[in-house]
Amino acid sequence: MQSSRRSDYIIVGGGVVGLSIAYHLARLGASVIVVERRYVGSGSSTRNAANARAHFFNREASLLAWESLKRMYRLGRVLGYNTLFVRRGYLWLFYREEHLEGMRSYMKTWRELGIPEGRILDVDELARRYPFLNLKGIVGGYLADTNGRYHHDAVVRAYWKNCIKLGVQVLEYVEAEKITVKSGRAVGVETPVGLLEADKAIILAAGPWTRILAKTAGVDLPIEPIRKEAMVTEPLKITIRPLVINTKVNAYAQQTLRGEVLLSSATPLDVPTWSYQHTYQFPLRAAKAMVETIPALAAVNWLRQWAGHYATTPDHNPVLGYVDEVEGLAVASGFSGHGFMLAPAVGEYMALLLEKGYLHPVMAPFSPGRFREGRLIKEDLVIG
Ligand SMILES: Cc1cc2nc3c(=O)[nH]c(=O)nc-3n(C[C@H](O)[C@H](O)[C@H](O)COP(=O)(O)OP(=O)(O)OC[C@H]3O[C@@H](n4cnc5c(N)ncnc54)[C@H](O)[C@@H]3O)c2cc1C
Repeated sequence: MQSSRRSDYIIVGGGVVGLSIAYHLARLGASVIVVERRYVGSGSSTRNAANARAHFFNREASLLAWESLKRMYRLGRVLGYNTLFVRRGYLWLFYREEHLEGMRSYMKTWRELGIPEGRILDVDELARRYPFLNLKGIVGGYLADTNGRYHHDAVVRAYWKNCIKLGVQVLEYVEAEKITVKSGRAVGVETPVGLLEADKAIILAAGPWTRILAKTAGVDLPIEPIRKEAMVTEPLKITIRPLVINTKVNAYAQQTLRGEVLLSSATPLDVPTWSYQHTYQFPLRAAKAMVETIPALAAVNWLRQWAGHYATTPDHNPVLGYVDEVEGLAVASGFSGHGFMLAPAVGEYMALLLEKGYLHPVMAPFSPGRFREGRLIKEDLVIG
């Protein structure tokens, strides 16, 4: 295929979000160029913990996540590529009665929204079902078995292959240096290989780097990077079936399809934000948190660890849609720790907005203008 420097849309960022938007735009018949500074999936899209859930503690995110999870279930069939999705479930463990009570009352909200709710497990049932757990101090759990995990490499590759099949140009190792704005409209992306021109719109899906790029167009988006680490142990026989979340210390563990136990925790580390360098402190702190929950992990060797980023916003929810300040400039970023699971629905809704002018009601609350207008998405239940 002849490469072109002009297309209907230019998407900056070859992560799962940029690729999902590109795929859906191409399906609607649009021409698309994706510009990726490194290789496809090199950002957080292949550095995440690969979990997908529908259960959030506000209505807006729950609805978007449920729409996305339904798409995640059938993604492998739709894209013709095995995304290795398994419904392993999520298990939240509570140490305080009021958190368990909060969860019980929040279940009504999910029911009202048509989202399959999970169920509360008392300590006896937890002991019966999950003999590997240390239940000291635990007052109960919440199991949501509609939730699950995918393989991030497989999903990224599935979107990428489908993009190529549909004629999307994916330019790797090409950095977007500046957004060109003429008479208040975003018209092109400056790169080391020259100016790429967009007839319809430019979409910033550059993960934690989105703010830097938006500034080149004179737009300030409140998206901040937060550095995170995760680790896996050597592979073991599969025993830990749901994702286990310790709500006291905000840490989680689960087994991958290969049997490695993947751990992560909200551990502040004194490391430069943009560094992918992993630290000595992280595995010690994450392992300590999860060994308390699953004591048998104390005898397991850790195999590897890595770093990545959350792109966060003041309300920890994504920024989706056209920016108000510059015509023809849209954004899909700020997903915090849940952008991968949202990508199937976000790609579809963004493409509908861009190509058909239809703002899907499930996506509407996430507009970039909400910060200026003071319409932040409020967490109804805070646990942890
Ligand atoms: C440890 C960890 C665990 C996580 N666990 C989960 C989880 O279980 N479930 C979940 O849903 N999410 C999880 N996340 C979050 C998830 O990984 C992200 O929200 C998601 O991958 C965001 O995808 P993206 O396409 O927006 O960003 P990215 O994958 O970061 O892609 C952005 C891309 O833009 C490119 N780029 C940036 N600037 C430029 C430029 N100027 N020019 C060209 N290209 C550029 C980058 O190279 C990058 O490839 C986790 C994240 C981390 C770090």
